[in-house]
Amino acid sequence: MKLLFTDIKELLQVRETAVEKLSGEEMKELPTIKNAWLLIEDDKISDFGKMEDLPEIKADETINAQGKIVLPSWCDSHTHIVYAGNREQEFVDRINGLSYEEIANRGGGILNSAKTLQETSEEEVYRQSAQRLEEVMSLGTGAVEIKSGYGLTKEGELKMLRVIKKLKENYPIPIKSTFLGAHALPKEYKGNTAAYIDKVINEILPEVAKEKLAEYIDIFCEQGYFTVEDTHRLLSAAKAYGMKPKIHVNQFHAIGGIQAGVEHEALSVDHLEVMRPEDIESLKNTATMPVALPTCSLYLSIPYTPAREILEAGLPLALATDFNPGSTPSGNMNLVVSLACIKMKMTPEEAINAATINGAYAMDLSETHGSITKGKKANIILTKEIPSYAFLPYAFGTNSIDYVFINGKKVK
Ligand SMILES: [Zn+2]
Repeated sequence: MKLLFTDIKELLQVRETAVEKLSGEEMKELPTIKNAWLLIEDDKISDFGKMEDLPEIKADETINAQGKIVLPSWCDSHTHIVYAGNREQEFVDRINGLSYEEIANRGGGILNSAKTLQETSEEEVYRQSAQRLEEVMSLGTGAVEIKSGYGLTKEGELKMLRVIKKLKENYPIPIKSTFLGAHALPKEYKGNTAAYIDKVINEILPEVAKEKLAEYIDIFCEQGYFTVEDTHRLLSAAKAYGMKPKIHVNQFHAIGGIQAGVEHEALSVDHLEVMRPEDIESLKNTATMPVALPTCSLYLSIPYTPAREILEAGLPLALATDFNPGSTPSGNMNLVVSLACIKMKMTPEEAINAATINGAYAMDLSETHGSITKGKKANIILTKEIPSYAFLPYAFGTNSIDYVFINGKKVK
């Protein structure tokens, strides 16, 4: 099956030779071809170039993309889209002035989602999660990471991870699975974090590994949640099973989570709303990708990750949604890219690089996804007719996507 796009107004993120990730100054450049063609053969990008050099191609289908832009689909490297129920009542309570503590005392927060998850059947969790996955695919996401973390019991965590596994089997986009058993402390462990970490390490982790349910390990390293010491213990234990860390750090406080992540060769450290100079320093000359989650900052009214400081230090940066029922009930990467420009002062070039190739890196997918490169998977976005690619972040809230293609097939 040969699918040919002709007369593309601009083809974005064209990398003749594949790059692993982009850092600092490199992120300012977004290579493009104006008035381009793109050939997809079966599920892969086969060739591309300028219209004036278009060779004779016998395509099965040709799409005239006049006035439209083509770019690689978004790579969302941090989500919690497998969950049960929603928390819009807490949202309303917050508007009405209730504090987090009051909401938590009423049984809200992560523990609320955990209770609902435990009470919902695996089939129903799958049904709800599949719906969310289909939604984000239609919004241009072509690769995604999904975490557990609303089970907080062995049964609950395994239920979530099995749902992720089933999504992997039934959907064409690459899905990476992360075990986040240490997301919050269950009530019965109050005051005894170490005992819960023991349980995660000794009872849940071995089962997750045995059933091959997760590629990555995660922990919420934060004041009032889990300490740097807990983080070291869990990451060391997970390493024995070959699970690489992708961890929640520096969301509300800088307590040394980044340093712990770097020490354990984390693939990514995520959130980073609160960054000390030594945190930026620790990330230099490492293989760890910093990941910013601007829609979470928007929703919680907390600071945005200091992208300019991170980039000016020569570091890379990826963008992701953090799609979850509590702090970011949205999986819209287009909005993430807009907010990165509006609130974090990233240029459209930097934001698009961060949401494509660097997002792919944060899921070990940069060899196959995240750029327009021959041989990579044909996961692409075809926009509507728009004046330029800067229009994508500029017209925030507008759906500028005409069609999304995954493995060369239209999904929307
Ligand atoms: Zn998260």
